[in-house]
Amino acid sequence: MADEKCTFCRIANGRLPSDIVERNDELVAFRDIDPMAPTHILIVPREHIATFNDATDDPALPGRMMLLARAIAKREGIADGGYRLVLNTGAEGGQSVDHMHLHLLGGRALGWPPG
Ligand code: AMP
Ligand code: ZN
Repeated sequence: MADEKCTFCRIANGRLPSDIVERNDELVAFRDIDPMAPTHILIVPREHIATFNDATDDPALPGRMMLLARAIAKREGIADGGYRLVLNTGAEGGQSVDHMHLHLLGGRALGWPPG
């Protein structure tokens, strides 16, 4: 999918407004538009990678996505209470936006198992 058709590419390159919480050379983190918890933030690579299946075998990118999520959880004050990281992948995984993204959810007791 071309960058201009991808919602998260447009957020990452600043063409679509969003509530950005962090941005660096590789990643952008912004608040989910339809939050499922008091803190619901998405961490995405700036590069268009459709799903986790399409990422390379280099653990650096997913590692840094997780570490950024943890840093944001600490900053948001939800780290001690607990939080959840979710990487929906593909149709049956519940992925609705085809640009790889890590959900950071917290600020309330989360149920398990997911639907
Ligand atoms: P998933 O179902 O894992 O693909 O998650 C996609 C998430 O993106 C959902 O939680 C949506 O609410 C969120 N979302 C979709 N469009 C936007 C947007 N423009 N800004 C922020 N979050 C969005
Ligand atoms: Zn994209």
